[in-house]
Amino acid sequence: MSTQLIPPEWAWEFHGHQCPFMPIGYRMGKLAMQYLGVEHEADHGFFIFPELGEGHPQTCMMDGMQVATGATYGKVLMAKTFYGKLAATFYHNKKGAVRFSLKPEFVDAMGKFEFFAYRKKGIEPSQIPLAVRQEVIKWVNEQPDQAIYKVEAKPVFTYTPPKGSFNKTKCSICGEYVFERYVRFKDGQPMCIPCSGFTESRLDGLKGIQ
Ligand SMILES: [Zn+2]
Ligand SMILES: [Zn+2]
Repeated sequence: MSTQLIPPEWAWEFHGHQCPFMPIGYRMGKLAMQYLGVEHEADHGFFIFPELGEGHPQTCMMDGMQVATGATYGKVLMAKTFYGKLAATFYHNKKGAVRFSLKPEFVDAMGKFEFFAYRKKGIEPSQIPLAVRQEVIKWVNEQPDQAIYKVEAKPVFTYTPPKGSFNKTKCSICGEYVFERYVRFKDGQPMCIPCSGFTESRLDGLKGIQ
């Protein structure tokens, strides 16, 4: 029996190509919502911390997760840990957290499909014959949830998002607006980060994750 948790048409359009990972992430997101008992996120209560990194094709999963849950990058509800792992923790401030990961046996079995022979040659998904793409997507849809995902309760996980602020000031060098927590002072003058010359890690906001 095929899963009922398949992405809507617009998700493919949003994602840009047909690949197996976007639907794997979509299904993961829907299953995490069912596990936690949460609705599609309208505002800012549900967070996803994907453990994916960069430079590996499975990152497409994150587009599926966003479509499924409404926990989007733009609402600052998704932040990567860059662990380079095929997993994500889903957290709702009133319902708790759960971690989903892809089982290695599933990853190995999927890796045998022709789709990956093309990918390893550096061929982009949109350039792979449609039948080859559809073959692996169909196979994924036919795998039961428990064959794909390892599910772990995360009872002590918490995350405190940064406090929201509408306060902003103008950079004394470039004249552009900078929001409060990003203003830096040099010689007593407020500056934006690039004008100040200070370097900052993009992961500074992720301290609540551990
Ligand atoms: Zn993709
Ligand atoms: Zn500036």
